[in-house]
Amino acid sequence: VAELNETHDPQLRSWIESANAPECDFPVQNLPFGVFCSAGTGAPRGGVAIGNCVLDLHALREMGVFTGVAAGAAAAAIGPTLNDLMQQPPSSVSALRAQLSQLLRADGAVSERVRSRVSEFLVPRDSVQMQLPAAIGGYTDFSCSYTHMAGMRNGEPARIFFQFPIGYHGRTSSIRPSGFPVTRPCGQWVRDTPAEVQFGPEPRLDFELEFAAFIGSGNELGESLSVAQAAERLFGYCLLNDWSARGIQMLEMGGLGPFLGKSFVTTISPWVITNEAMAPFRVARPQRREVEPPVPAHLDAPEDEKAGGMSIELSAHLQTPGMRAAGLPPERIVSTNLKSLYWTFAQMLAQQTSNGCNVQPGDLIASGTVSGPEPQGRACLAEINQRGSRPLDLPDGLKRVWLEDGDELTITGRAVRAGYVSIGFGECTGRVTSARGSPGNAPHLRTNPG
Ligand code: MN
Repeated sequence: VAELNETHDPQLRSWIESANAPECDFPVQNLPFGVFCSAGTGAPRGGVAIGNCVLDLHALREMGVFTGVAAGAAAAAIGPTLNDLMQQPPSSVSALRAQLSQLLRADGAVSERVRSRVSEFLVPRDSVQMQLPAAIGGYTDFSCSYTHMAGMRNGEPARIFFQFPIGYHGRTSSIRPSGFPVTRPCGQWVRDTPAEVQFGPEPRLDFELEFAAFIGSGNELGESLSVAQAAERLFGYCLLNDWSARGIQMLEMGGLGPFLGKSFVTTISPWVITNEAMAPFRVARPQRREVEPPVPAHLDAPEDEKAGGMSIELSAHLQTPGMRAAGLPPERIVSTNLKSLYWTFAQMLAQQTSNGCNVQPGDLIASGTVSGPEPQGRACLAEINQRGSRPLDLPDGLKRVWLEDGDELTITGRAVRAGYVSIGFGECTGRVTSARGSPGNAPHLRTNPG
């Protein structure tokens, strides 16, 4: 687990004024990496978010400001994906972060001449198109929230939930950065009356508020990672929406598990908040109750027990077309915190590699729906509506049971701790569009022959 250093100093301010606003997601203590396109810079390239700007790492590196191992890490961060950066030793990425901090802080050891050159490489964040930060070779979706598993079952989770982090292999080709439209999928689901399987636009479209980690350096096939080793291979974090087609999912879960109900699209926030940036926000993982089995040895480590969790306030906001037309802002429908997650990311990665399966730089592992005990802690509609029986009340007098066409769902996150500068994760947003071949969402339903 990364240690606190001068880059986390709460007294630091940036000479870029927008980075000093209290509500800013990207103060000088954050320094997340991402890949962006802009009219001025052309092809996708690496950047760092600071205030309302993106710092162009490619241009900055050409200027020759980075030295030592930081220069090597910077060279790995300028291309169209961050996979090369992710597999650098954590000490090199840390050196790059330290030099970026010096360049961007108000009291940095940098000449006026250098600072004025750096200011030429700042691009307004609202003028860029963010890309996926990595070529994601593998994606695993775990299910690590006790509250979610209990809520979906209406009782205690199955025994295996307490024995290891449960998960399944997700689809990488349909992962998209924030803002990509979410086309309502078609598939097979059971209609209530008459009760029969049919093919058509999914009627029970849902979101799942999740949190995810990018893998840094991987492991060899056949080599298992301990929890302590796994903790050092978590490069950084983002927000994730595991859009879910509940009708399709309910039917297919009777077979081999999640498949078409999940793979139509997955949205992530485009900025990767580094493991080092998260150092001030580490917390102990939740204590186990007496009735639960002990943590298995291959999933345990003293440091993980003490500081394997993270305190991050997570929210989901919904805006319907009616709310947009009435000029109403998005309504917060979920407030939860990552700290209640039952298993840590180091435990998830240790479990993933416990059979010798190899992971690679840029692989993504997600937490599962981060439901928590807070009053608004249910982090998907299936939990909020209690299987369709309790509609969600929205400010324009409208109700929602499931997502409708035109609805926009946005996930945000803030790491907060007294005495430290709070950092944010940017946005993970997507708007639902009508199913292909069904303009205006007119149902085109076919009953399955046989
Ligand atoms: Mn999920």
